[in-house]
Order: sequence, then C-alpha cells, then structure tokens
Amino acid sequence: VLELDGVEKHFGTEKVIEGLSLSVHEGEILTLLGPSGCGKTTTLRLIAGLERPDRGRVALNDATVSGPDDFVVPEDRGVGVVFQEFALFPHLTAAENVGFGLEDWDDDAREARVDELLDLVGLEAQGDSYPDELSGGQQQRVALARSLAPEPAVLLLDEPFSNLDVDLRVQMREEVRRILKETGVTAISVTHDQEEAMSISDRVAVMNDGRIEQVGDPEQVFQQPESRFVAGFLGHAS
Ligand code: ATP
Repeated sequence: VLELDGVEKHFGTEKVIEGLSLSVHEGEILTLLGPSGCGKTTTLRLIAGLERPDRGRVALNDATVSGPDDFVVPEDRGVGVVFQEFALFPHLTAAENVGFGLEDWDDDAREARVDELLDLVGLEAQGDSYPDELSGGQQQRVALARSLAPEPAVLLLDEPFSNLDVDLRVQMREEVRRILKETGVTAISVTHDQEEAMSISDRVAVMNDGRIEQVGDPEQVFQQPESRFVAGFLGHAS
C-alpha cells in the first residue's frame, strides 16, 4: 500500500531523514518508534505530503505521490491524520466533526457513514455533544472516527496517546487497535513509548537519527535487537 524508497530530507544543513526505505502492507499497523528528534514526525509529514523529500520516492497504491518529477498535494493522497491534540472543531458537535470531511457525499450517505463510525467508536449516544462536553478518551474516539470517515488509504497517528492520562492511555491503546483492525485500515503510528508500540502494532520500525535501524514484529525487535542502538534504546526506556 505504502512504499518509501531512499527518502532524504534536509532542513537547512541538517539532514533529518537519511536514505529511509520502508514498505507498509495492506491492513497492517506499523509503529515508528524512536527517541525525540529522530525524525518520526517528519516521516509522517513526508507521507502526508506536508513536506517534499529532497531525494527518493513515496508511493501509495503503486502510484508515486512524491518523487523527482511527481508531487500529489495532501488533499488528493487519501491519507488521514490523527493529531496529538485531536484538533476537533469546538463549535461542531461530535457528529458534525465526524462528517466534516464528507462534504461531497449526499446527505443520506453522509448521515449513514457518521452513524456507522460513531457506533464503531462506541459514541452512538454522544453524536450531539460538543467536544468540551466529552472526556479526553471520547474526544480521541471522535478524532479517530473523523479521520476514518472518508475511507483513507492510509491513516497516520502522531503520538495519539500523549494527551491522555496514564490509565486512560493503556485502555485506549487496546481500543484504538480494535477500531483500526475492525476497519482494516492501513495505519502508521509514531511514538517514543515502547509499551505503546508493543501493544498496538503488527510491526515496529525503530528509528535513530533519520534512519530505520530495525523493522520486525514487536516480540522479535524487543527480544532480538540487531544493533547496539536498538538494544540500548529499548533497554534504557524500560
Ligand atoms: P519528537 O518526538 O520530539 O517530535 P521526532 O522524532 O518526531 O521527534 P521530528 O519532529 O521529525 O522528530 O524532527 C527531527 C529533526 O528535524 C529535529 O532535529 C527537528 O528539530 C528538525 N526539524 C523538524 N522540522 C523542522 C523544520 N520545519 N525546520 C527545521 N528543522 C526541523
């Protein structure tokens, strides 16, 4: 579904992403795990089309979306994003937030899709509530439903749990994984928290200094680190 091939990105003289290659398969949840500043958010922005690579290629469903001669604008990529701070519209209800990206749909189809998604995230009774009437966990559910509504080819989640308190974070990890798996969406999340990476991912890619050090299923990466960096980062963080 998603292919990054030899992607590089500089900001001024600083090389932030260095020869990054990665394949993400249909329906999988892949987590980019690494310390602050290693380039995780920049990688998501390159996939979403919010940054252009200096070198290399990004392809979605076998079509190049960023390359030396191609650039597809973010709104035409079919990529959904869930932001750290959820970014809900405060003056719209939960249902209106979920339906926001569906302005091209006819009214009946939009209403049915909104109902389906509120149901999926367990908020069938909260459609008329405004964001400030909802708990943090409920706001996150609305944000997730809104991003899933237009059926994105790929969903990007940037530190999706960092705004939640610790108990809720653990509960929401399971819940977010269930929701993603139920829709079958292909998802890439970003975190520096190894427990989170373990609990929500099908595969984990450990990043260091703009490169991917190791990719594999969570157990394998945690039990058989292939580099000193991976061993140190995982050991140190536990
Ligand atoms: P964090 O978890 O702290 O967000 P990260 O792994 O997501 O870290 P990035 O946000 O991708 O890392 O940043 C990687 C590096 O690129 C950092 O050194 C950052 O200062 C730099 N950087 C990111 N965006 C820009 C920009 N627009 N201009 C200049 N430097 C930038």
